Amino acid sequence: MNKIAIAVHGGAGPDSEFIRQHQKEYEQGIQEAMDAGYRVLEEGGSALDAVEEAVNYLEDNPLFNAGRGSALNKKAEVEMEASIMNGQDLKSGAVSIVKNVKNPVTLARAIMEKTEHIYIGDMGALEFANQIGLKVMPEAYFITDHAFEQYTKALKEADNTMEGAGQYQVKRKTHGTVGAVALDKEGNVAAATSTGGTENKAPGRIGDSSMIGTGSYANNKTCAVSSTGDGEVLIQHVMAFHVSALIQYKGLGLKEACHYLMHNELKDAEGDMGIIALDTTGTVTMEFNSERMHRGYKTSDGEQFIANYPDKL
Ligand code: ASP
Repeated sequence: MNKIAIAVHGGAGPDSEFIRQHQKEYEQGIQEAMDAGYRVLEEGGSALDAVEEAVNYLEDNPLFNAGRGSALNKKAEVEMEASIMNGQDLKSGAVSIVKNVKNPVTLARAIMEKTEHIYIGDMGALEFANQIGLKVMPEAYFITDHAFEQYTKALKEADNTMEGAGQYQVKRKTHGTVGAVALDKEGNVAAATSTGGTENKAPGRIGDSSMIGTGSYANNKTCAVSSTGDGEVLIQHVMAFHVSALIQYKGLGLKEACHYLMHNELKDAEGDMGIIALDTTGTVTMEFNSERMHRGYKTSDGEQFIANYPDKL
């Protein structure tokens, strides 16, 4: 059997009291998503199926900032985004500013497979989701107590003005995101990313997570990558494709490329950044410059790893 592998992340960013108190639950969420994606690969499913499945788990888990549990924008609304890419043929799908859709990454995949487009946003995306019968939920489903507390805390600490709250959030750089990369039995790689975006973002703001080449990138020739962190910084540095380009054009190995990008090329870039990546040999790597990144991976060589903090790997 060819090697199979999956890696998932649940967001890179600052540490918090809440995260410290719920470390075990975060690890469990990563484990469940990773196992679900791995099962798909074991049963002969494609890398694309596996990343969608893993991300669906994380979207459904209220601890993570994607799907249920998404961060709230300045108007206390949930606006989500997601992307998915198949390394075999570079087919891609993306969605942004979408409300009510339970699993935005599934919508991104449907856009890829059922439309002539790659990227659809806002009401058009919701209409399409309804047309093809994707599961939609009332807004209350997505808003967790924790997300609402974060929102009201930000408002309070910033003199109850929306502008002040925005500034406060920029300083705290609070965010999250979920993502997965996988290698299947056929030797194909895929990547997927999904997020509620940054807290207190402007309505209509689009971050890196839904952008092909920034939030997600997959190419059998090089690697599959999912990014997380401060979206505005990740967009500037075309994060996911940057890794692939270092491999393709400079001949770097996967680990070397990710390490070089994060700790040399972008060492002075201001903002939290995290990437998970794998290639067709089943090599997996994870790099971040933030206080924490919920992450894990599993391969058919028997390797398994889960962590929240930089202590390991
Ligand atoms: N990159 C996401 C965004 O900016 C947030 C995150 O990954 O933490 O929307």
